[in-house]
Amino acid sequence: MRYSKMFAPTLREVPAEAEIASHQLMLRAGLMRKVASGIYTYLPMGWRTMEKIDTIIREEMNRSGAQELLFPIVQPAELWQKSGRWDVYGDELWRVRDRHGRDFCLGPTHEEVITSLISNEVKSYKQLPLMLYQIQNKYRDERRPRFGLMRSREFVMKDCYSFDRDEDGLDVSYHLMYDAYTRIFQRCGLDFRPVEADNGAIGGSSSHEFMVLAESGEAEILYCDSCNYAANVEIAESGTVIAESEEAMGDVEKVLTPNCRTIDDVVSFLHSDVKKSMKALVFMADGIPVLIFIRGDRRLNEISVQNYLGAVTFYMATEEDLVNAGLVQGFIGPVGQKLRVLVDHEIAQGRNFCCGANEKDYHFINVNFGRDFDGEVGKFRLTEAGETCPHCGGTLQKARGIEVGQVFKLGSKYSKSMGATYLDEEGKAQLMEMGCYGIGVGRTMAAAIEQNNDEHGIIWPLSLAPYQIIIVPVSEKSKTQVAAAEKLYGDLLAAGYEVILDDRAERAGVKFKDADLLGIPLRITIGDKSLAKGELEYKLRRSGEAGTISAENPLDAIEDLLNRADAPDHE
Ligand code: ATP
Ligand code: MG
Repeated sequence: MRYSKMFAPTLREVPAEAEIASHQLMLRAGLMRKVASGIYTYLPMGWRTMEKIDTIIREEMNRSGAQELLFPIVQPAELWQKSGRWDVYGDELWRVRDRHGRDFCLGPTHEEVITSLISNEVKSYKQLPLMLYQIQNKYRDERRPRFGLMRSREFVMKDCYSFDRDEDGLDVSYHLMYDAYTRIFQRCGLDFRPVEADNGAIGGSSSHEFMVLAESGEAEILYCDSCNYAANVEIAESGTVIAESEEAMGDVEKVLTPNCRTIDDVVSFLHSDVKKSMKALVFMADGIPVLIFIRGDRRLNEISVQNYLGAVTFYMATEEDLVNAGLVQGFIGPVGQKLRVLVDHEIAQGRNFCCGANEKDYHFINVNFGRDFDGEVGKFRLTEAGETCPHCGGTLQKARGIEVGQVFKLGSKYSKSMGATYLDEEGKAQLMEMGCYGIGVGRTMAAAIEQNNDEHGIIWPLSLAPYQIIIVPVSEKSKTQVAAAEKLYGDLLAAGYEVILDDRAERAGVKFKDADLLGIPLRITIGDKSLAKGELEYKLRRSGEAGTISAENPLDAIEDLLNRADAPDHE
C-alpha cells in the first residue's frame, strides 16, 4: 500500500471523548470513527486488524470441528416469545417493527434462531454432535456505551453453538471450545486468563470468561496466589471462615442522626466503626422489593442475590419504588421490617450493629440478628482480595480484566423451550444439551491495543498488525532513495508481505511519528548515508531495537527481524 493513497486519517490531538488508551489510539491512528453513540465505522486500518482476528478465530473454530454459517441479523419476535426472552431481555433488546406492524429484534445473540433451526433439521442421534458458528454484527442497546469498541451498541461477535446428545457430549464440546479460545487469544498475542464466571440459574462451574488483564478492564477478577483458582468477583468464593462473634449483645438504642443518609455520614457522626454498621440495599426482584443488609464496608454481590432469588428481572429500586414500598431513604433498617429481608452472613455472625430505624433522622445501635430482627442468611457480599482461596488455602489477589470471550454450558434451557429433541437408538425423544461460545472481535482488538501501546502509539503484535512492514524513504526527492524503496517494496510484496511504502512528501520525522502511531512492527528506513554503504536501516516498534541490514538481498534479514518483532526487550 502506498501511504499517499491510503485512507488512514490520523489525528494529532487526543479526542476529548476518549477516556482509555485503546479508544484514543483507535481514533488517533484512524482505525475507526464514530457515527452515533456506540456505533462506529471501521476504517481500513482497523478493518484489516479485525479481519486478522476473524481469520485466527475461523482457523481455530474450523480446527475444532465447528462449521461456519450465517444467520440473519433481524429476528422475528415469535422466536423470542417462544424462548421466553422477549419479555425479560429488557431495554437492551433492540426492537423494530415492519410495515405490517410485526415485531422483530436486531439479534443481540442467536440462541433462539439456531435452536429453532436445529429443532427443525436435526431428528436423530446420528446427526449429533454439531458445532456451528458465525461472525456477525450484534446489537445491544447498552445503557452506557463507552470506551469505543469495548462496549458499543453494534459490534462484531463470533458466536458458536454446540448441540450434543448428553452432558458428557457437552463436556467434550465445551473443552474443545475452551482449548480453541486459549489458542485464539494466544495467537492474538494477549496476556489473558480464563476465569470461572456466572452462569445464572443453571448451576455448577460451567462457564468461563476469557479475561485480558488490563487496568482499564470493567471486570474484577480474584485469583489465588498459590493454585490456579481464578474467578470473576461476581462468583468468587471465599475460604475465609466467619465465626460467630463472642461479644456480648448490648441494649438497642435509638439515636438521633440528623441528615445522616450514607454510611460515611453515620459513622463519622457517631464516631463508630464502619464494620459495625449495616448497609441497606433495595432491589426489585420480579417486581417485588427485597431488602439486603451487608456490612457497611462491604460491596453487594448482585449476581449472588439474583441467583439466590431466582429472579428474572432484577434491578436496584428507584426512588419511586422506595416510596411505593414505604421505605425512608437513608434510614432503612431490618428491625420490624415487613418486606423480604436478606442478611449477609457477616451480619448474622456479628454483634451490635448500627442500622437505620425506618424513621427520618434516626438510627438504631446495638442491633443483633436473631434477637432484634430476622431474615434469610447467605453470603451476599463480594469476596475481597486478601481472603482465603476456597480451594487451597492460599490468598486471593485482585486484578482487572476485559472480557473478550465467554464459553457457557446452556444445558437444555433452550432445547426445552424451543423443542430441540432428537430420537435416540431406542427411538425415544431426548432433549439436546447445548453450549454457547462468544468472542467480541472489536473488543479483542481494543483489548490488544490496551495491552500494547506506549506514548507514541499502538504496538501491534505481529499477528494483528494491519501491515507488517513500513518502508520510509527519508526524502522523496532523492532518486536513489526512491528507486531503492520501490525495489524493496516490490520485492516484499512479491514475497507475500503486507507492506506500506511511505511515499508522501513529508519530513522524515512526520513519517516516523505516523509509523509509530500506526504500530507497524518493522520500519525500514532508506537514507542516502546508509545506502552509500549498501545498507538499510531498521527499527522494531516493540523493542526499539535499531540497526542496519545489507541492502543486497535483504529478505532473509527482514524475515529474521519479523521473527523478533514481538520480543519485548532488546539487549
Ligand atoms: P458484558 O458483560 O461485557 O456486557 P456479556 O457477558 O453480556 O458482556 P456475552 O453475551 O458473553 O457478553 O457476549 C460474548 C462476547 O461479546 C463478550 O465476551 C464480549 O467480548 C463481546 N461483547 C458483549 N457485549 C459487547 C458490547 N456491548 N460491545 C462490544 N463487545 C461486546
Ligand atoms: Mg459474557
